[in-house]
Amino acid sequence: MQLTLWTYEGPPHVGAMRVATALRGVHYVLHAPQGDTYADLLFTMIERRPERPPVTYTTFQARDLGGDTAQLFKDAVKQAYDRFQPQAMLVGASCTAELIQDDPGGLAAALDLPIPVIPLELPAYQRKENWGAAETFYQLVRTLVVKPQASRVRGAVPRCNVLGPTALGFRHRDDLREITQLLQQLGIEINVVAPWQATPADLARLADADFNVVLYPEVAQTAAAWLRRQLGQPSTTIIPIGARATQDFIEEVSTLAGLGTGDGAERHAVRVRDLAAGLSRSPWYARSVDSNYLTGKRVFIFGDATHAIAAARVATEEFGFELVGLGSYSREFGRELRAAAAHYGLEALITDDYLEVEAAISAATPELVLGTQMERHMAKRLGVPCAVISAPVHVQDFPARHAPQMGFEGANVLFDTWVHPLMMGLEEHLLGMFRGDFEFHADALPSHLGHAARPVSMASRDAPMHEATEAATGEPTGEAMDAAIAVQTAPIAAPRPIEVPPQDAPWSADAEQELRKIPFFVRAKARRNTEAYARSRQLPLITLETLYDAKAHFSR
Ligand code: SF4
Repeated sequence: MQLTLWTYEGPPHVGAMRVATALRGVHYVLHAPQGDTYADLLFTMIERRPERPPVTYTTFQARDLGGDTAQLFKDAVKQAYDRFQPQAMLVGASCTAELIQDDPGGLAAALDLPIPVIPLELPAYQRKENWGAAETFYQLVRTLVVKPQASRVRGAVPRCNVLGPTALGFRHRDDLREITQLLQQLGIEINVVAPWQATPADLARLADADFNVVLYPEVAQTAAAWLRRQLGQPSTTIIPIGARATQDFIEEVSTLAGLGTGDGAERHAVRVRDLAAGLSRSPWYARSVDSNYLTGKRVFIFGDATHAIAAARVATEEFGFELVGLGSYSREFGRELRAAAAHYGLEALITDDYLEVEAAISAATPELVLGTQMERHMAKRLGVPCAVISAPVHVQDFPARHAPQMGFEGANVLFDTWVHPLMMGLEEHLLGMFRGDFEFHADALPSHLGHAARPVSMASRDAPMHEATEAATGEPTGEAMDAAIAVQTAPIAAPRPIEVPPQDAPWSADAEQELRKIPFFVRAKARRNTEAYARSRQLPLITLETLYDAKAHFSR
């Protein structure tokens, strides 16, 4: 058992639902208890889809367990086929149904439906949502692809598949528009996009492309590896998030497409240059003098592996931030994440325990957090600016406007989104100068954010998160309610042993007052360094002198 208040990913059948909902002409019959239909709301409310996901639940109840749940499942499959007339069907079990072992695959096969029926084995107690999506997509591809008799002969125009976008994906809709447009502008034809709006007939045609563009490895890497082994189709490895990565991506697809060599090489180079010049504003914004103050800002990054690794590159190479933490909940991509973190001289944080993430953020004392919806809550509690770069996300990260993360327009969006929560340069400067001012005082918040919540005081930092948030705003908040609901529904587990932090020396009044003169975005770091310094020397009291000694010690 694991005591869980927040979870970064849902169970694997939610991943399967994301793939089924993205497709057309596919229906998913899920053996699940009454109540599991809550997952529909992810699609109809968070993503605001106008139609229900193509999922039929058996919704068995306690009294059904005394009867024939297998028959219940067979009836549900039959009814779903008769009603929806899909071209292919997925069948599987949710966590509870996995325990009663009714074998959905065998039961559906016994019905002998005239369409492909794909059984899903999703171990709900070991795996999570993204793994479920990857496995579902892989099973669909390996079942439905029609392998050609002979190897494919390349046509005059290079052709690719675009793999990975699903329902409920963070900015998948807009990334897809951005990247398909970019590929077409490069003179590459799109054969199939999948699973996004692909039909089983489209999946059957996947072999009819020269290579695959993998946008989200968490979803598409397993299927792409199979396509490489079975059909010899190479796939892209660079994720086009950020202006530089987009340039590298263009180079990679140009090579895979056979562009950039031979007669058309010069024409292709001009086309690429024009594209970058016309669409890419973020490199100039990051170079302009207004961005000087961004240099060396301490940033902590956490998310799925794809977005976290990409964000680390953008943050350090394009915006000049200093990376002080890099982590992910995507355990399947631990190797890639460790390699990326090592590149920045860091140790990767690979965990799905939000308490560990919060402790790491707190210890790293960043000035900006780039993370998921969870890190947004943590950053609010710690009084640190934050922007969302990865799922899981709330409804506001399925915006009505075009807001990609990928391609040149995506890089423009990243620049605006990441810089927005930071104090603007002039105000930061004024804060350093006029600390006693009624407006630009030591605890002032970025005024361009209007009524933003005040940072939580150090005294309340150890309070439970929802209490601290309420203390900061004075009223119950969404997070408090989330937490209350999650507490009510969380499985009961053995309590964690309480860790007693080592006692720090108290601060004298004049040292505390001096500390408050330091602008808030670096104050937590100064406090921590001074306390560490006092601890290392076993000082009984932190005085003004200790503060200055620590400053001198750490700036050596
Ligand atoms: S834990 Fe129970 S309620 Fe939650 S998804 Fe699994 S089967 Fe459904």
